[in-house]
Parts: sequence; C-alpha cells; structure tokens
Amino acid sequence: MKIYDLHSHTTASDGQLSPTALVQRAVQQQVDALAITDHDSTEGWLEASEAVQKQKLPLQLVTGVEITCQWQQREIHLVGLRFAVNHPSLQSLLSQQRQYRYQRAQVIADYLAQQHGIMGIWQSLQHVNAKATALTRSHIANLLIQKHYGHYPAQVFQRYLIDATRAVGELAWCSLEQAIQQIQQAGGQAVLAHPDRYALKEPQFLELLNEFQAAGGQALEVAYSRQTTPQRQRLSLYAQRYQLLASAGSDFHYPGGVNELGRNLLLPSSSRAIWLSWGEQQRVMNKSVEQQYSL
Ligand code: AMP
Ligand code: MN
Ligand code: MN
Ligand code: MN
Repeated sequence: MKIYDLHSHTTASDGQLSPTALVQRAVQQQVDALAITDHDSTEGWLEASEAVQKQKLPLQLVTGVEITCQWQQREIHLVGLRFAVNHPSLQSLLSQQRQYRYQRAQVIADYLAQQHGIMGIWQSLQHVNAKATALTRSHIANLLIQKHYGHYPAQVFQRYLIDATRAVGELAWCSLEQAIQQIQQAGGQAVLAHPDRYALKEPQFLELLNEFQAAGGQALEVAYSRQTTPQRQRLSLYAQRYQLLASAGSDFHYPGGVNELGRNLLLPSSSRAIWLSWGEQQRVMNKSVEQQYSL
C-alpha cells in the first residue's frame, strides 16, 4: 500500500529541513509519494527532484505549493498539486505574494520595535532571500525565541505576533478564485488545505465550500495531523457532498513533532482519493482499522 503525503514544508518557507533532507526523511518514514508545498514558493522543487534522481530514492515527487488567499477578510490556505512548476503566470502570482510577505514582515517588525521595544528583527530577517523564500511569521517567531521573548512558537504568537499582525491592516493576498485559476492554468489541481482550522461557523464553512467548488476547486484535505476520527469522517462527508476529491498531508514543518511525515494519513472509506484522478489506486482504511482508529 502506498503512503501519500501531499503537504510539507522546507527551508524555502518555514520548514526546518532543506529540500534534500526532506526527501531523505520522507523515504525513511516510508512515504511513497510526496508533495513539497511551501508557502507561496516552489523554490524547493529543483533541489528536491535532483536529490531524488541522484540518490535514486524510491520516492514519487509531486509538484506543490501552499498559497495564502483572502476570503471574507480571512486567510485561507490552498494547496496546489501537480502543476507545471515553471508556469509563468503562476510564478508571477507567487512572486507577488512573496513581495507582500516581505512588506508585511517589515510592518510587523516595525510594530514590535515601536510597541514592545524589540529591536533588530528587520535586520535579522535580511539574511533570508525573500525573492525565492517565503518570509513567514514563523521566521519572526524563531527570532523572538532566540532573543528570549518566549520559549516556543505558539507562545510568541500569542504574546506578540497575533497582535502585531493586526498592524498590517487591509490584507493583500490573492483571492481564492485567482489562486485556483493560476493553479489550473498551470495544469494542476487545487486543494482546500486543513478546512477545519479556520474556526468558521457552519453556514460560513458551507459558503466557503460552495465558493471553492464553484471556482473549480477539486479537493479537500481530508486527512491531516491533530485530527480526531470524527473530524476526519466529517470532512470526508463534506467532500462527498460537494463532489470533491480527498487529499492527505501531514503539514510537516520539522522532525519529531506531531506532524511527522507520512504519519496518520489514511483516508476514510467514504473518500475518493485525489490520486485516483492521477490513474493510481484507491487506498483507504480497511473497516476494522477505521473502527478502532484513534489518534
Ligand atoms: P504566515 O503565513 O506568515 O502567516 O505564517 C504562518 C505560519 O506560522 C503557519 O504556517 C504556521 O507554520 C505558523 N503559525 C501560525 N500560527 C501559529 C501559532 N499560533 N503557533 C505556532 N505557529 C503558528
Ligand atoms: Mn507554516
Ligand atoms: Mn496552512
Ligand atoms: Mn502548511
């Protein structure tokens, strides 16, 4: 049975491992098919695919990206899969997104300096090649931890970053429709990432699913880490109801955490896996596993 992990991060955004180290770890973790889905960047693709080739790794690499979109003044994440990686208009959209990330990081750094007297964040961010690498709030969180403003990311987000992000004002991410359109023009498929992490009430969630589907979105990320079985089953039912395919991805950022590569990614039997549309086999929990399955 193949293990698919279609959501992971490298140093091209806020992941801890280089693209080479990521593909090596994926193989160690028995992953058979991997998508690297860095925030608004495909910079990891070339190095990763060269490593797979040169080291003859038994790994099917799928092109990927995770695009931050705005929808009703919120941030929604779309995963794009299996597109032509050098497609010009998709790359131009990603480049705009990274530019916005750069400006946004500067606003956040200024806010931290002015409101909290935390100096030097902007300067420390200058070593990141923001043209290719997506500058994320995790980069800032790590600097705050280095400077002893907190012990772990969730803490500095709570203490400083959630508040500082309000200083950014009007969001300038691309729309859901734009992201879906660009992914599809490049020959790929659009997946709504971690659908139950947006804290939406039911009617708004349904509105999101409607809009996503109407704009041509193909799949829901049904299986991911830190999910209970009922949550996963619920997403599988929504995918069915909206005639969407089901994807699975760990959202891996660093080794040894709860989002370990390839772990816990079986789809419920009611799901129609996205890789069926690639001509591959369905792979779901068998009934007895499904019944005893718990996280
Ligand atoms: P950004 O896309 O720049 O807003 O950065 C978002 C990234 O920061 C996410 O992909 C997570 O990896 C991380 N993140 C967001 N919120 C939190 C949080 N409360 N605690 C820890 N990490 C977070
Ligand atoms: Mn991230
Ligand atoms: Mn995300
Ligand atoms: Mn992610």
